Amino acid sequence: MAAIIDGKTIAADVRADVGVAVAALQKNYNYTPTLAVVLVGEDPASQVYVRSKHKFTREAGMHSLEHKLPMDVDEKSLIGLIHSLNDDEAVDGILVQLPLPQGLDSDKIIGEIDPLKDVDGLTEISAGRLSLGRPGLRPCTPEGSVILAKSALATRGETLEGKHCVIVGRSILVGKPAAFLFLEQNCTVTIAHSRTQDLAAVCRSADILVAAVGRPLMVKGDWVKEGAIVIDVGINRVPNDNPKSKRKTKLVGDVDFEQAVSRAAAITPVPGGVGPMTIACLLRNTVRAACARRGWTVPAAK
Ligand code: NAP
Repeated sequence: MAAIIDGKTIAADVRADVGVAVAALQKNYNYTPTLAVVLVGEDPASQVYVRSKHKFTREAGMHSLEHKLPMDVDEKSLIGLIHSLNDDEAVDGILVQLPLPQGLDSDKIIGEIDPLKDVDGLTEISAGRLSLGRPGLRPCTPEGSVILAKSALATRGETLEGKHCVIVGRSILVGKPAAFLFLEQNCTVTIAHSRTQDLAAVCRSADILVAAVGRPLMVKGDWVKEGAIVIDVGINRVPNDNPKSKRKTKLVGDVDFEQAVSRAAAITPVPGGVGPMTIACLLRNTVRAACARRGWTVPAAK
């Protein structure tokens, strides 16, 4: 039976380290980093994420700014806000909550963020630095996935080096940056996608299997190699078939957890796996951005 990789606890550890770094910046430089989040419209899931970001930013001792704009905001006003945040010396990180409402061009909007404040790691500069193997701000969900895989291996005295990592999904948000981040850890990386032939066999060759597809329970138990580490990035809302539960829907991942848990050595649950890591890495990026912009070394947590 697989060990369950406890994303909540590992994310709390990352946030605690961020809190220590923030306290050191306050002590050494009398400076408190600020994260600005821009939310357009009233998508319920986005509102929940933004509330969590606000809460955890403040818990880590940082300032949190929220800019809420109506769904029908025009592109010019949104870009104007981003430029004013770019110019604001006190703002260290800017995050535009995705997805944006229809009619707004996400790529164009994200492209307006100052790369030095791009704590989501999604600008072309950040993506370019990642692909070139140069230092920069890394996308949060893929970085969280690497931390979880490392932590699962560390319990067996192993590292990612030389492991075959199969990533299912090639999105700009998750799959592609995850591939570069696992490569940076000296994994041998395979990226699979909707045109991959015999996906089950490709997945079975993985020591580390990362699923970032957005299809509930797609990865079956017999796609998982015995002893593999499974990182399930997927978050899918599906009808709740548990008659005892009052909730009509529930969250499941891209991996059929019930099947995979008996083959994997370690697996992330959904919820409580990769999800909490995303915000923790966002906070860490905000401290990194604050320090990088001022030429400060990021204070070590321990
Ligand atoms: P996305 O942009 O829709 O990309 C999905 C990827 O999966 C695409 O590359 C697609 O391949 C591939 N795919 C689709 N159907 C497939 C199939 N049948 N077989 C193999 N590959 C297939 O999604 P995303 O933004 O990467 O998100 C993926 C999942 O992660 C979603 O459930 C999302 O909610 C979740 N997510 C979680 C977090 C978190 O904090 N935990 C953060 C972000 C996203 P093609 O390129 O060939 O179309």
